[in-house]
Amino acid sequence: AKLEGRGTYQFFEPEMDVRMQARRRLELDIRQALARREFLLHYQPQLNLENQRLTGCEALLRWKHPERGTVPPSEFIPLAEEVGLIVPIGEWVIRQACRDAASWPAGITVAVNVSPAQFKSDRLVETIVSALAMSGLAADRLEIEITEGVLLQNNERTLETLHRLRALGVRVSMDDFGTGYSSLSYLRSFPFDKIKIDRSFVNDLSSKTDGDAIIRAIAGLGRSLGMTTVAEGVETEEQMRRIRAEGCTDVQGYLISRPVPVEQLLHLLNP
Ligand code: C2E
Ligand code: CA
Ligand code: CA
Ligand code: CA
Repeated sequence: AKLEGRGTYQFFEPEMDVRMQARRRLELDIRQALARREFLLHYQPQLNLENQRLTGCEALLRWKHPERGTVPPSEFIPLAEEVGLIVPIGEWVIRQACRDAASWPAGITVAVNVSPAQFKSDRLVETIVSALAMSGLAADRLEIEITEGVLLQNNERTLETLHRLRALGVRVSMDDFGTGYSSLSYLRSFPFDKIKIDRSFVNDLSSKTDGDAIIRAIAGLGRSLGMTTVAEGVETEEQMRRIRAEGCTDVQGYLISRPVPVEQLLHLLNP
């Protein structure tokens, strides 16, 4: 309808409202995405430096949006986390990853990222138990990656959940190691299977700062605690050479492979 005469005026939305509306819209979109099966997983392999074999891969969530194309996790996971949608999304991730991995060669593990809100929900352990049972995947081929955000809540329940997962045989990795304030104290409170050294330290290898010393220290720590140490975000031969020299056990990064759809991963696993 056309507005007439002196009554014609525009509403200027305060910026806050515009942003709230965009969030609201995204939230609805994410809800629909689950129902419409617009989520999919890409997988990025990890290479063991001792035997030059692929040992496992990380599941990374992608959203094939009908209009926006492929939306990266950084654009929807934070909101999904805030409004609790990460719980159903994360359950889908766990089920899908277990289903996919069940048909991979026996030595290959699959890692899924579990965010703080999902970790806090009571359903995590049950979800994992049922996903393993339904897929037939052996528990020791599933890995859960958690960041400091999960451990920050540092209560009894967090540790209890970690111990329950461990009792099932599921492996637990500390993701983005070294980026938080108290990475070291977390290693003391829980025996992780794997430390994933944050990409920022690998990046530092190519700068003037003494990145090597940090990687060496973390690799040494991992060795003495009996934990695998994976360097993340390895992009160049030079970084890989130095990471090997510093004693990390595994690498993950574009140099080995970008995250790829499952069909492509199968080609990498069965060359
Ligand atoms: P992350 O767990 O630290 O995952 C590693 C990220 O680094 C991935 O980004 C991966 O594509 C990227 N990456 C891998 N190798 C290289 C490299 O050589 N160079 C560079 N520049 N980047 C590399 P992506 O897939 O965009 O995921 C971003 C973050 O989103 C993840 O960080 C993780 O925190 C979160 N995320 C992804 N999938 C899931 C999921 O299923 N559930 C939850 N809760 N979070 C997820
Ligand atoms: Ca991760
Ligand atoms: Ca990481
Ligand atoms: Ca990260």
